[in-house]
Amino acid sequence: MRTPLIAANWKMHKTTAQTREFIMEFLPLVKDLSDVEIVIAPPFTSLAVAAKFLKGSNVKLAAQDLFWEDEGAYTGEISGPMLKDVECSYVIVGHSERRQYFAETDETVNRKIGAAQRSGLGVIFCIGETLQEREDGRTLDVLKRQLTEGLRDLSPDGIVIAYEPVWAIGTGRTATPEQAQEAHSFIRQQISEMYGQGVAEGMRILYGGSVKPDNISALMRMPDLDGALVGGASLKPDSFAKIVRYREV
Ligand code: PEP
Repeated sequence: MRTPLIAANWKMHKTTAQTREFIMEFLPLVKDLSDVEIVIAPPFTSLAVAAKFLKGSNVKLAAQDLFWEDEGAYTGEISGPMLKDVECSYVIVGHSERRQYFAETDETVNRKIGAAQRSGLGVIFCIGETLQEREDGRTLDVLKRQLTEGLRDLSPDGIVIAYEPVWAIGTGRTATPEQAQEAHSFIRQQISEMYGQGVAEGMRILYGGSVKPDNISALMRMPDLDGALVGGASLKPDSFAKIVRYREV
């Protein structure tokens, strides 16, 4: 049985005061839940304050990125040990916005995943095709390349995959549950070829792309969907709580 994981990716939103306010409002809305893993990824500047207010709760902390070295002359970068220091459990790696705006490649994503594993962080590893790639019929080839290159020479320890079709991120255009299931089942098959069936059966595969309170339950009914990575709809406590409580929607 895979425990569902629902993660909030706040991107470049919220000051420390807004982070604290969100957490104070959000925790009472979900505190009775024990059958879903809940994760929040605020910006770096809010991690320490979030760690303080999440302490002892059923909500875990994630960062949105990390650098592949642990320490050194890399101005502006944040390392795995630094994220552990502020009590992160997970880090998001390879988000399409990082690939698009910050020139991340499969190779840098691979180095970052390795660094996260070295630090004992769980990894939410994002993959997904662009609209052009989907229209050209290349979706499965792209997913296969991102998986094999991103995980090259790495163990599957602590990895959670997030399938995020780029055309569905922040656009209001969600993949249908069937489109998502097709991609997820392909991803699980690839993981099985890379690491064996036991690992594939245990690995969680999240869906991301315009997830909202009114589409989460249909998505979660798909057999290979094990949770969601949520951007825009995770910024308000009541909206994110409804998504986390998808079984009741
Ligand atoms: C994301 O940023 O990972 C995401 C899925 O964003 P949104 O939910 O806003 O589409």
